[in-house]
Amino acid sequence: MLHLKPKDAAVQNNPHTTLITQTAPVATNTHGGRAKCLQRLVRLDLPVPRTVALSFDTVHQIAMGELPDVGSVVDQFDRDALLCVRPSSQDADWGGPGAVLNIGMNDARFEGFAKTMGEGPAAALYTRFIQSYAINVARLDPDMFDHVSDEGRAGLEQTLAAYEEETEESFPQHRRVQLAAVLRSMARAWNGTSARLLREAKGAPADAGLGLVVQQMIFGVGAGQCGSGVLQLVDSDTGAPQVTGRYLGQSQGRDALEDREEALYLVRDPRGRSLEEELPEAFETLKSYAQLMRTRLRAEMQVEFAIDDGTVHILDGVRVARSSRAAVRIAVTLAEDGVIPREEALMRVQPRLLTELLHRQIDPTVARDVIGRGIAASPGAATGTLVFDAAAAQAAASRGEPCILVRRETSSEDVRGMHAANGVLTERGGITSHAAVIGRGIGLPCVVGASSLTFNLRDRTLTSKDGRVFGVGDAITLDGSTGQIMAGAATLQEAALDDYFRTLMRWAADSADIGVRANADTPDDAQTARNFDAEGIGLCRTEHMFFDPGRLTVMREMIFANTSDGRRAVLERLLPMQRDDFKQLFGIMRGMPVCIRLFDPPLHEFLPVDRDGQRELAEALGLPRSDVTRRIEAMREYNPMLGLRGVRLGITVPEIYEMQARAIFEATVEVARAGDTVVPEIMIPLVSARREVELVKSAIDAVASSVRSETGIAFDYRLGVMVETPRAALRAAEIAPHCAFLSFGTNDLTQMTYGLSRDDAGRFMSDYVQQGVFDEDPFHTLDHDGVGELLRLGAERGRGAKPDITLSVCGEHGGNPESIAYCRAAGFDYVSCSPFRVPVARLAAAQLAI
Ligand code: PEP
Ligand code: MG
Repeated sequence: MLHLKPKDAAVQNNPHTTLITQTAPVATNTHGGRAKCLQRLVRLDLPVPRTVALSFDTVHQIAMGELPDVGSVVDQFDRDALLCVRPSSQDADWGGPGAVLNIGMNDARFEGFAKTMGEGPAAALYTRFIQSYAINVARLDPDMFDHVSDEGRAGLEQTLAAYEEETEESFPQHRRVQLAAVLRSMARAWNGTSARLLREAKGAPADAGLGLVVQQMIFGVGAGQCGSGVLQLVDSDTGAPQVTGRYLGQSQGRDALEDREEALYLVRDPRGRSLEEELPEAFETLKSYAQLMRTRLRAEMQVEFAIDDGTVHILDGVRVARSSRAAVRIAVTLAEDGVIPREEALMRVQPRLLTELLHRQIDPTVARDVIGRGIAASPGAATGTLVFDAAAAQAAASRGEPCILVRRETSSEDVRGMHAANGVLTERGGITSHAAVIGRGIGLPCVVGASSLTFNLRDRTLTSKDGRVFGVGDAITLDGSTGQIMAGAATLQEAALDDYFRTLMRWAADSADIGVRANADTPDDAQTARNFDAEGIGLCRTEHMFFDPGRLTVMREMIFANTSDGRRAVLERLLPMQRDDFKQLFGIMRGMPVCIRLFDPPLHEFLPVDRDGQRELAEALGLPRSDVTRRIEAMREYNPMLGLRGVRLGITVPEIYEMQARAIFEATVEVARAGDTVVPEIMIPLVSARREVELVKSAIDAVASSVRSETGIAFDYRLGVMVETPRAALRAAEIAPHCAFLSFGTNDLTQMTYGLSRDDAGRFMSDYVQQGVFDEDPFHTLDHDGVGELLRLGAERGRGAKPDITLSVCGEHGGNPESIAYCRAAGFDYVSCSPFRVPVARLAAAQLAI
């Protein structure tokens, strides 16, 4: 227990040392988190041994050799107290040098302790100190003590001899000298290059400081009931209430956590022994301390304790280590118990952690046999046998065999195979490539741009850098959250969407002030969007509805029709299918807004690329193969993404948009007949000129009028424009008056602003980021300076011309927390992202509003 001595006040004035008392000036940003936490424990009147904190400045001076005297520290403690030193960085995750225990042990103390606690325990204390001093302070090789096999006095003598032989000095006997050396070496270790790089990788600033805490040792060894351990009130994996931890009699520090046969569990020891049963009083005391820490420190804490002759001491408290799932449950439970407000619970969960809950993960305890890596394009883990085309993926799925689809890159023709596969791996592509976008949309784990593997698609093999070859039928595992590719089928853990997750999401929805919709193309996607409480569909990419084998053939017939009437006739057959698509979406979304984008990609994406496909198409259309080949050749474009697609198709081949508009309106009428009101939103892609909007608008208006008069049912619709070209953003003022909303398609807008192909950028993006050309992949995190300026400018000009216009983002950035912050600041009404990213976006949005 802390006792203030008369000299304490004077010592507190020393600029270098601060005795931790209830009122001492100790702060996380000057003395580190551990020092601050210990002060909180002192304020709770918990039995914390006497502790002195050294500030970041002091430790820095020690590292520079400017503070050789440690008198002001040792003077704080009784003459014969042993001491320990632990690191105290601002954020515990930034690490720090290992703790050194038992400072002050020497030959004389050993002889003294041998009399009071027995020779064995006394020798163990001293030996341990010499070894840790040798390794941490004298920087000797830990292996040098390997030959010391004896315990007790003999082992101690061998250890001392080894130390003295290696250093050619006798082991220091003065506590002051030992402490000065320990402090100096810990201070210097913090400045080492590897320690610095490690903490910077965890987000520490370059000038992050280290504090140190010097604490009086509670031995944990000796006469009576002695030992040490850790205790926490929740399970680290699930967050469920469960007293967990370990205790080891006659031990110090974190010894109990090492895999020691004699260590006790705290409760329900599988061997029928536990601290609860063996030391019930100490157990109850500890539990009550932990409960007090939970409510007063407002966090689940792991308590580090020592028992000395039956008396419990609290040495330290750290936030309980936790899985993502446990993080959610802990935050929600603390709020439900009234320990923290809901807003704080929302702030305590990092949005990105939720991604782990929404998808299967590789069991973290299994070793990974990594054979290559690529861009982590769609999160979650998948295992399966290798297949190299969509048909093989479908065949595997029909046999109930999980498979991983491997392609150079994917295209529309692969979508069916992607639905059938458990994961997708591509050689090329970046974060907004076809495989990535579809993968995220349907929650399919996906790694793209995996150029560290050699893809031999003709032989249907993958070769790793170390020469291992994987072919059809071999099992691999993808980690779409890290981009790793592994040999074999790793053990997976299921997604964890429990009640705590749902509660957190409900609170997030209450707090957020920017809407979150989902990009959903199919009824399945829409259902997922609803399950995650999306506030509507912000982008339905209708072209994905045409990949179904039945429809694909009709689509191809339409493309091959020579006249407008011929096209109309074929589209008539697609109309009922599209109408049914939209009816289903409206039904699932139950009155929530559904924003349907008219057909966008270049038509040739729907045509077969290989000879076999072309022959089949020729047969289906009853045309000579040469005709088919010639037509396909004629449609080839040098730059298809900048060619005849989007609204350009809408204007030059108007029959497609007319059919789609009719399907939307007829679905609206059918829903209205069933008593529900839907106001569909229709969105025009790839606009760059006002006149494009005028032309498409008048064509759609005409379809709306026909459907109204044919059916006798009135309905409204909202027309919107996708801002995906820089020109659309610049000319937003003249476009806005013609539409109800502007939705920024930041995938294409990024591609066009940088003049950088979204499908090819993956090949060199990591070089660009590594060399600091780009801070981050702009297809992943919105480029605030360039693309962001276009967004702001488009929003301002659009709003200037039409103040009540709705503004949104529907590119992949819509699910990225930093990009959401940017859109919110620019006054956007909502973001729309893949259904599986809705929870991440929702929590990020809530945190911005709090
Ligand atoms: C975009 O370009 O941002 C967009 C949403 O459309 P797509 O990704 O379908 O091109
Ligand atoms: Mg686009």
